[in-house]
Amino acid sequence: MAAAVLARFLRPQSTSIRLIESEEIGIVGVGEATVPVIQALNGLLGIDERDFMRATQATFKLGIEFRDWSRVGNVHFHFFGDFGAPIEGIAPHHHWLKLRQLGDSTPIADYSFPYVAGKLGRFAPPAGDSRSEAASYKYAYHFDAGLYARYLRANAEGRGVQRTDGKVVDVQLRGEDGFIQALTLDSGERVEADFFIDASGFRGLLIEQALKTGYEDWTHWLPCDRAVAVPCERAGEFTPYTMSSARAAGWQWRIPLQHRTGNGYVYCSRYTSDDEAAKNLLDTLDGRALAEPRFLKFTTGRRKRFWNRNCLAVGLAAGFMEPLESTSIQLIQTALARLVDLFPDSRFDPTLSDEYNRVSVNEFERIRDFLILHYCATERGDTPLWNYCRTMSIPASLQHKIEVFRSCGRVPLLSEESYQEPSWVSIFLGQHVYPGRYDPLVDNIDTDRLRRGLLHRRDTIRKLAQALPAHSDFVARHCAAAAA
Ligand SMILES: Cc1cc2nc3c(=O)[nH]c(=O)nc-3n(C[C@H](O)[C@H](O)[C@H](O)COP(=O)(O)OP(=O)(O)OC[C@H]3O[C@@H](n4cnc5c(N)ncnc54)[C@H](O)[C@@H]3O)c2cc1C
Repeated sequence: MAAAVLARFLRPQSTSIRLIESEEIGIVGVGEATVPVIQALNGLLGIDERDFMRATQATFKLGIEFRDWSRVGNVHFHFFGDFGAPIEGIAPHHHWLKLRQLGDSTPIADYSFPYVAGKLGRFAPPAGDSRSEAASYKYAYHFDAGLYARYLRANAEGRGVQRTDGKVVDVQLRGEDGFIQALTLDSGERVEADFFIDASGFRGLLIEQALKTGYEDWTHWLPCDRAVAVPCERAGEFTPYTMSSARAAGWQWRIPLQHRTGNGYVYCSRYTSDDEAAKNLLDTLDGRALAEPRFLKFTTGRRKRFWNRNCLAVGLAAGFMEPLESTSIQLIQTALARLVDLFPDSRFDPTLSDEYNRVSVNEFERIRDFLILHYCATERGDTPLWNYCRTMSIPASLQHKIEVFRSCGRVPLLSEESYQEPSWVSIFLGQHVYPGRYDPLVDNIDTDRLRRGLLHRRDTIRKLAQALPAHSDFVARHCAAAAA
């Protein structure tokens, strides 16, 4: 991603880009779910959606369904859309809250077009007419991360990036200021550069091993520290959404691709063993396992400085907040956009890296809070992990959001929020965090008129969703991979 984006924006007459990676070390390769902002990245890189989907065995993603998170048996969702247009200027969840207080049991999900379409197993891109209920959503993709990396590599090479397959075995720092001067590869080649992007994964080869930048550990709030992943044969529903099911010591993902289904159990090593986690995962696959389970260890948190001297860390080298909302690839994308905005010249004015770090810290912390909400808003106390999450202390910034929402149903958004009000509302209401009151201006609308209006909205959504093609048919018709 970094090589492709920088090659797209930096002038080839004045810049040369080297991509150094090691086939032998390989990539993590389990990043299979994305968020809608990836469409902007693909667009900037001139990538044709259907060509990319064929090449990466991709499917469409309208959001995430959460099972058993707040209580065993509870199902809630976070889909890429809202609950319809504001009514008389007031967000629809306030109107829904009023009717709920009057005894209406309609789930708020019925007002989310992507949720209704997703649950019916249907998909089509948003309607062109922005007034339609079928226009108020976005979508992302599930794909094979290894194939996407290869696809982007070709894109970068097509723009003149020079790629070397080799291992970095040494990093030399400049004596006077501690900037990185050069890397040595296992071939013996010495590679000098002005600026280095550390995309070496959890090891943080440059940012940590060489520059000793430090890491802020968030395990207290995001306690899962392991994952076991295994693909299985495609079976069961071909859902246009990710499934996230809470388990005794963590949660399990299910991601349908064209050629297989991706599965993983993210867990906390304090509460279960690797063997038990692997067994739990294998016991719940809906098709035959296609590989041996693969184990990954991580520490949730972030690098203390993302940009340190002449090195910028992206991806897992920058930090990892666990894959619950598929935010890692998004964070790489926003990091690169920010770098392009603040790109340094040879003076390396520290103002640029300070600003980069300030904004990035905010962005990371907002996402962190959103993820913690999924855990701390549980009512479960049936296993040690869930009991811990229910009772743990949380960041003051998240506590404030919860208190304001509980008080009046509003979400106080801060700067650099990746998630807007409908996303927070989905998790709050989905996990039974209810406001004490709705917006009193809702009472300016006659209650019967409101009821009729919301009923009409619900019916329209259902009819429009039912008219869409099945997700499997849409993929087969427009973007089927050759081998699928
Ligand atoms: C369990 C799990 C699930 C995830 N799910 C999602 C998801 O659904 N959605 C999402 O957006 N993200 C997800 N992620 C995160 C996502 O996988 C990563 O953000 C993404 O793959 C980018 O990884 P990376 O490039 O930073 O690191 P890696 O994939 O580890 O790549 C590191 C690169 O550095 C190279 N390298 C390392 N050391 C050397 C060396 N000495 N010399 C030369 N080259 C070297 C390697 O060859 C490799 O190319 C998940 C992560 C985990 C752990």
